[in-house]
Amino acid sequence: MKITIMTLFKETIDQILNYSIMGRAKKSNQIELEAIDIRPFAANKHHQVDDYPYGGGAGMLMMAQPICDCFEHVKETMPGVKPRVLYMTPQGKVWNQQMAEEFAKEEHIVILCGHYEGVDQRVIDEIVTDEISIGDYVLTGGELPAVIIADSIMRLKPGVLGKQESFEEESFSDGLLEYPHYTRPAEFRGRKVPAELLSGNHKKIEEFRREQSLINTYNKRPDLLKKANLSIKDKRFLENYAKNHCK
Ligand code: SAM
Repeated sequence: MKITIMTLFKETIDQILNYSIMGRAKKSNQIELEAIDIRPFAANKHHQVDDYPYGGGAGMLMMAQPICDCFEHVKETMPGVKPRVLYMTPQGKVWNQQMAEEFAKEEHIVILCGHYEGVDQRVIDEIVTDEISIGDYVLTGGELPAVIIADSIMRLKPGVLGKQESFEEESFSDGLLEYPHYTRPAEFRGRKVPAELLSGNHKKIEEFRREQSLINTYNKRPDLLKKANLSIKDKRFLENYAKNHCK
């Protein structure tokens, strides 16, 4: 899989991509990850990439030509592959784990970062397949959203996470939030690690974690329970819990 991030601020992205798991993923041959600077593709003499909006109004807009030419170049690096092109925008569909899982199956993902007031609408009409937001707030640029999207996709690829960082039991993986974690010591400032986790009984631990996961979701994100994959036992547990913990 390849992820290409098209941006006017390549250094910002490069700095983050070289860290930790993202850095490791980048170095592995599981995934190719690159940021590409749009500016050198500007056909004008001064490599101008933005201009005033027609009709007036505050701010500048990223021009269509440098972005579309940059995209043509990016496409040529993966001949025969039709990339998904994600434009980062607060107007897009709000990103979630299911979307990360869906996009992790793609061969080539191109992420376009906007800046200033955004991009000329014709870029969206011409090359973008998906408009994506990371939440209902406005940032100055699409670089941080792009890195968030790339990170959430990459970590799903086999071999990117080590065994110890497995995502299979993580929040959202089965529609629930994850259970709480504890490490040594067994007691900290009078707070003890739950006895079930020290019992060495795997069945008991599994059951305890499932219940904690249900409690966490009930308390923090009850909206998720409607869509979660719950067994009859889970439902009974939640009914009981709700009776004793009225909000
Ligand atoms: N004028 C745009 C609007 O009202 O929809 C906002 C432009 S914003 C100041 C500049 C750039 O930041 C956008 O083009 C986009 O790439 C990025 N951006 C800002 N907020 C974002 C969000 N919540 N999710 C994804 N990208 C965002």
